[in-house]
Amino acid sequence: MTAKALPAIDPARCTGCGRCVGLCPPQVLWLESADPRGWGPKHAVLHDAPDCTGCALCAVHCPFDAIHMARVQRAG
Ligand code: SF4
Ligand code: SF4
Repeated sequence: MTAKALPAIDPARCTGCGRCVGLCPPQVLWLESADPRGWGPKHAVLHDAPDCTGCALCAVHCPFDAIHMARVQRAG
């Protein structure tokens, strides 16, 4: 996949509501806890960046404005 931009998720703004996880077409966003035992608040993470299409649906629909699309710099 050659997405021109990937979602950058601000953990300080993300409430873990899961909306982006549910609407991502290739399902490359997951909810994860910072605690290895899975306790505590969860945040969205981009788990499978190579399969992200860069569609920006997640950024557009995040109710808490926690995602912005960051341009991917490529050599050449
Ligand atoms: S939609 Fe926004 S607030 Fe909800 S889990 Fe995704 S990034 Fe976090
Ligand atoms: S930009 Fe599109 S494909 Fe990539 S994580 Fe967001 S919703 Fe999924």
